[in-house]
Amino acid sequence: MGFKKYLDKLVCYEAGKPIELVVRDYGIYEDDIIKLASNENPLGTPKSVIKAIKKEAKNAFRYPDDSAFELKEALSKKYRIYPSNIIIGSGSDQIIDIIIKAICNKDTKILMSSTTFAMYEIYAKQNEANIIRTKSGIHNMDEFINEYNTIKPSLVFLCLPNNPLGDCLSKDEVYKILDSVSKDCIVALDCAYNEFAKYKDKSKAIIPNELIEKYQNVVYLGTFSKLYALGGMRVGYGIATDSIIKTLSKLRPPFNITNISLKAALTAIKDKKFVEKTLKNNFKEMEVYEEFAKENNIKFIDSYTNFITFIFDDMLDSTALTNYLLKNGVIIRDLKSYRLNAIRITIGTKEQNKRVLKLISKYLHKVI
Ligand SMILES: *Cc1c(COP(=O)(O)O)cnc(C)c1O
Repeated sequence: MGFKKYLDKLVCYEAGKPIELVVRDYGIYEDDIIKLASNENPLGTPKSVIKAIKKEAKNAFRYPDDSAFELKEALSKKYRIYPSNIIIGSGSDQIIDIIIKAICNKDTKILMSSTTFAMYEIYAKQNEANIIRTKSGIHNMDEFINEYNTIKPSLVFLCLPNNPLGDCLSKDEVYKILDSVSKDCIVALDCAYNEFAKYKDKSKAIIPNELIEKYQNVVYLGTFSKLYALGGMRVGYGIATDSIIKTLSKLRPPFNITNISLKAALTAIKDKKFVEKTLKNNFKEMEVYEEFAKENNIKFIDSYTNFITFIFDDMLDSTALTNYLLKNGVIIRDLKSYRLNAIRITIGTKEQNKRVLKLISKYLHKVI
């Protein structure tokens, strides 16, 4: 067949285990399953959004507003930018895809950290681009600058904060990297969790209007999937200069966001109470995990996100622990696929976290 040869080498993305699968495989009641594997908001869909979705349902027969006028207006107010500085994607995933498509082929290099968001690699491979990684898993400013100068990539990904490790460069460090990058290299700042980082430590906050005024070769990526609890609605966005947005928009599939998703995002962005509650719960409960780790001599990375990463070294096997939790109805993320003996747990509600930590504690007593 006439398919491109390199497709033979590509493998499909493997998403986290869905709840339905655990129901089927282990015979556990759906209501007894806790999923803390995909960094979803544990508070669930905001009530205001459920109402808005129901109201919008009657418009399902219509095509959505392809210009996403209302949502761009709301985002431009939030960030003090112009609607012409915004592109809306079906998740920020789609913007990552579009950026790579716009820049990369088999002769281009993309620089990223050695342990970072898996989608960069997936889309890079779909375009046959070459991936170059810094030595450290966590983002290291000097390594990024040195690697940049050595390999001169066409595209750099900074994940701020970094999924799946939780570390985050400060704004000053990011600006130092940007200062040493030439204007013909695009730098994508993946800020999927930046609202969480900003809440914990102001020095980590990336401010889109200041960013694109200072640098003309950057794209800020945001999403409604994490803080705003809309993973299933698939809404993300990119912020950049008019000129970059114009170019990226040529690759955006028409009608890529449903009218129901547009309304959901528009409603969520206005629900300040929900956002505040999410951030408060997250960092209060993060402390519970940190305390647990300290008490049990488990290494963890100081996290600026809605998840925490435990590193086990030779204490235990992360896959065995993940399977033990799964059998007991708790889904978390094993980081073996990142070549780490570690797990990533999304911070849940108080009750969920209690149950998870009780199980981990039981497991520790069993194996150690
Ligand atoms: C979740 C996530 C995204 C985007 O997710 P979408 O649902 O596609 O908006 C982007 N980057 C990182 C690092 C993420 O963790």
